[in-house]
Amino acid sequence: MLNKNLQKKVGWIELITGCMFAGKTEEFIRRLRRHSYAKRNVIAFKPIMDDRYSVDKISSHSGTQLESYPVKNSLEIIKKINELDKTKKIDVIGIDEIQFFDEGVVNLVQEFADKGIIVIVNGLDKDFKCEPFKNVDQLLVQAEFVDKLLAICHSCGSNANRTQRIVNGKPAAANEPIILVSGEEQYEARCRHCYIRPK
Ligand SMILES: [Zn+2]
Repeated sequence: MLNKNLQKKVGWIELITGCMFAGKTEEFIRRLRRHSYAKRNVIAFKPIMDDRYSVDKISSHSGTQLESYPVKNSLEIIKKINELDKTKKIDVIGIDEIQFFDEGVVNLVQEFADKGIIVIVNGLDKDFKCEPFKNVDQLLVQAEFVDKLLAICHSCGSNANRTQRIVNGKPAAANEPIILVSGEEQYEARCRHCYIRPK
């Protein structure tokens, strides 16, 4: 009989997190690709609101892309998985920008992992006010594997784990509207010393 400790059970959660410009999306794509190369059935989702470059691909700032299903909420993820499950068993699920999903997504990824699926999720841990983002705050606790990636501070070159929102060339105030006409705002990675807390 096989030693119990040697029996390998599959199914867990991997969280990739950190601030902007840390290379999270590239890491996310890399991990999913490894499973695709090994002929596992991989499926990736992203919230429909992120249409930075295309509606059916996850794109990193450097241009790496991965096919993905844009969905409105966690219910649409279940629907799609159930639909696909009829023809093939899903081995790996990737969810990008998980901080923008409804909070039901946390239970959902737990259930997938319980069922033996490898769930790889990607998301920002803090908003521009340096407050925890929903879903990622929970997954930091629940995930088996957590990787917090650091960026390089755009001001001083030190290790950065914060995202500074810049509007019209200045750090944005806390009450600045969230949606602005594109081009007026940008983001910078900042270390704790260069980050200016929005008031
Ligand atoms: Zn700095």
